Amino acid sequence: MHEFEYLRADEVGRAVATVAGDPGASYLAGGTTQLDLMKDGVLAPDRLVDITRLPLGGIACDGDMLHVGAVTTMEELAADRTVAERLPFLRQALLLGASVQLRNMATIGGNLLQRTRCRYFRDPAVSACNKRLRGSGCAAVHGAARMHAILGASQHCIAVHASDMAVPLVALDAVVRLLGRHGERSVPLTEFYLLPGDTPDVENVLSRGELITAVEIPLLAPETRSTYLKVRDRASYEFALTSAAVALRLDGGVIGEARVALGGVGTVPWRAPAAEAVLRGAPAGEEAFTAAAEAAVVDPFTVEGTAFKVELAKRTLVRALRTVTAGAP
Ligand code: SF4
Repeated sequence: MHEFEYLRADEVGRAVATVAGDPGASYLAGGTTQLDLMKDGVLAPDRLVDITRLPLGGIACDGDMLHVGAVTTMEELAADRTVAERLPFLRQALLLGASVQLRNMATIGGNLLQRTRCRYFRDPAVSACNKRLRGSGCAAVHGAARMHAILGASQHCIAVHASDMAVPLVALDAVVRLLGRHGERSVPLTEFYLLPGDTPDVENVLSRGELITAVEIPLLAPETRSTYLKVRDRASYEFALTSAAVALRLDGGVIGEARVALGGVGTVPWRAPAAEAVLRGAPAGEEAFTAAAEAAVVDPFTVEGTAFKVELAKRTLVRALRTVTAGAP
């Protein structure tokens, strides 16, 4: 592994100044992705700034908003009572997203910034990867690509966004709080990630040294039903082939509010506003569910290995909608 200097940050502003002023520096939180990539030679920072002792943890409820510090662990968030009661599909996504050992290490900010699982990205022996080296090509487009994206993809990159947690978060209109050398700002999670286009190495709107400090999550109304359905090749320790996060409010069998997002198929966590528009005001049933699924998966970019995901993504959403409405009066 490339040698690096380890620094434990003792103040948020100094940590930001350090990373912003040094192109070789990176933040270190739980390290569950970053250390793997360093051992594999994909990442080679000269300096790691450990932010886990900074006062950026904790969960606080303020009215209908949950404030989650960036170094809160996945397990802490999954165990939170408000999450269990008001954001059940987020809890499901957290529990399905990693083993308990990983959940105890991995942070919420780190989860949002986790790197792709694309095998070509993670293998420095593969030279063609635009995400590692812009302009080098994309080995996945002509290679084995079963786990790759069909939405938001381009011929330059079809890497899928791997986070389960981010899928219900985009459905909820969560907002990330950022701190950089020029101050604080808030960015909706739906605008935080960037599509690959011809620059897949640029994955989000963060500027050099900018740090996620917190995530603001609107709570669902108590009467809202929600579910997170994850389809994968085996029942645990596996990433999603497809997933669907659905939250619906029903009023006498008619759908009022609808929130829908897909995972495992997008280069970014994939909000599906067209599907939500189909569902809103429709009687809860197969006709609306099927129409919503058709609206959710439009203009897919497929390669040989990923073509099956078009149908699977639609069926995943239909099944999630059936599940969330089952037994409704
Ligand atoms: Fe690299 Fe993206 Fe192609 Fe994977 S899909 S090889 S990450 S450019």
